Amino acid sequence: MASDNGKRRGFSRRRFIQGAAAAAAASSSMLSSAREEKQEEKHGDRPRPPSDDAPDIVFVNGKIHTMDDDNTVASAVSIRDGRFVEIGHVSRGRHGADTKVIDLRGRTVVPGIIDNHNHFVLMGNRPGFHTPLENALSIQNVQQIYAARAAGLPSRDAWITTIGGFHFNHLYANPNDKTSGRFPTLAELDAAVPNNPAFMMISFTGPGQANSAGASILRANGVNVGADGSVAGGFPISECSKALLFLRQTLLNPESRRRAVIDAMNYAVTVGVTTHLDQGAFQATNTAADGAAHEDNFTMHIPFLEVYGQDKAIVRLRINFLHMETDQATPELAQRLKNAFQFLGNDMVRTGSIGEFIASGTNAASPFVAAAKRVAAAGWRAEVHSLGRRNTPTSNPADFELEIMGFEAANADFPGVVRERRWVIAHVPGITQEWIDRLQAIGGNLSLTGWQYLAGNPTASTVAPYAGPPFRMIVDSSKRPDGIHAGMSSDGMQIAPMNPWIHMYYATTGINARGVTINPNQQITRQEVLSLYTRQNGWFLREEDQLGTIESGKLADLVVLNSDYFAVPDEDLKKIRSVLTVVGGNVVYDGGVLDLRG
Ligand SMILES: [Zn+2]
Repeated sequence: MASDNGKRRGFSRRRFIQGAAAAAAASSSMLSSAREEKQEEKHGDRPRPPSDDAPDIVFVNGKIHTMDDDNTVASAVSIRDGRFVEIGHVSRGRHGADTKVIDLRGRTVVPGIIDNHNHFVLMGNRPGFHTPLENALSIQNVQQIYAARAAGLPSRDAWITTIGGFHFNHLYANPNDKTSGRFPTLAELDAAVPNNPAFMMISFTGPGQANSAGASILRANGVNVGADGSVAGGFPISECSKALLFLRQTLLNPESRRRAVIDAMNYAVTVGVTTHLDQGAFQATNTAADGAAHEDNFTMHIPFLEVYGQDKAIVRLRINFLHMETDQATPELAQRLKNAFQFLGNDMVRTGSIGEFIASGTNAASPFVAAAKRVAAAGWRAEVHSLGRRNTPTSNPADFELEIMGFEAANADFPGVVRERRWVIAHVPGITQEWIDRLQAIGGNLSLTGWQYLAGNPTASTVAPYAGPPFRMIVDSSKRPDGIHAGMSSDGMQIAPMNPWIHMYYATTGINARGVTINPNQQITRQEVLSLYTRQNGWFLREEDQLGTIESGKLADLVVLNSDYFAVPDEDLKKIRSVLTVVGGNVVYDGGVLDLRG
């Protein structure tokens, strides 16, 4: 599938081969340090390598954080046939006539970000022209983002939608007052989008806000919209979920879903997320009981697979299968394990395993333990999530305790399965050292998430003693001999943003969207959280030999940043974006900052 990708951006291998005769003559150097110059002089008389060795692209003069074993920072890297070739020291005289030499002009480069737990497939199935608002920091930003979106729409009938992934907690009316977060008003939305209908909602079931054009269409279709454009949230059925049902039933079709998939991918590369492990959806009922996280788990991958089949995909996708049965016999899970294959596909799109649910619930009445044993018997990976905590020693066990006990039961019947298959518990805001140790003993692993950034607040129930997850405790545990593996994820696109830099802000500061420290004493370093999001997540995908670091032989995914991640003030972490994203050696996003004519 990827063999011809290079042609799209002009870094074609075939073109290079045609130009190979000229390669020997070309000798522009990508050496970037005196030490390298000396080494090169010493070996300067060795035979020229075969011309076939010429790189397709070389990046020079950068601060390239390879995230390798030694945290090497290199100034240059070369790429050939979609993989990294030489890092730091790149041999003189290997350039072909078609080799692109791109001067990074001192910019910071990191490996392509891997999100080991998100809901990217839901994002690619949104009705309307879904427009992420996770990077808006003010009402004015929302207006700018929506106005720009409206300008690019095909018609005045086209809907601008934002279904989850943001919160009014970060939309300030007054940038100096972080308690002023709110939705834009009807008038503010109308000013930005006067013609097209627009609707935004937070979380799974709202609340939300429409502009005038959107409000009138929704009202005409049975949705109760306030005179001020407000659309009520609630559970299980809200005015927002009624609006969502209407939008899905009228706007979604195979073509619009494929367009939404490409939109989602185009967004992902602007924030540097090049690989997504999707964790499924709540099974849709096609009623107003469905929220933003509902989709049909059996058909929602089709538009993605079509886009991959058409060779139009620009990010990597790994697909977990979510199962939430209440029946102890878990008949659907049993069929999945019989009829599907894990880790089947190619470098761009591949199946994962079972997650983020293996059954509905975790208590004794649920089929959790039976499901864990079925997944173990099949030799599959299990991934589950935990949102709970135990508030007192005598209160009921938290979900993570029941999950770890379930993992232990499966591991007892199928010794070694948790370690060998790399079973995972995600989010874990309330996990304790005692239970980390128990999970470590059977080889289990933890995926950490910064979603509390959006909705977290300084009330006793979410903060005592911290909102979580306990990043510091978990990362310290991962550094022990035979420690657990820890990775990082967004859990976007409903209750959290995809943007990894916001999650890195939260992990390193413990501060939420309203500027309140809600995760005290659990901060980790920038190097640590970037490692979780790159090299550690390569391990979570079982692709540590292919992804997660900038090392020779690995798939050439990298992100050139708009500022120095390691040097910017904390608040500016939220503003980090890609200026150039490369996946498999192809430029998949060009912010227009670097000269690519090389
Ligand atoms: Zn999730």
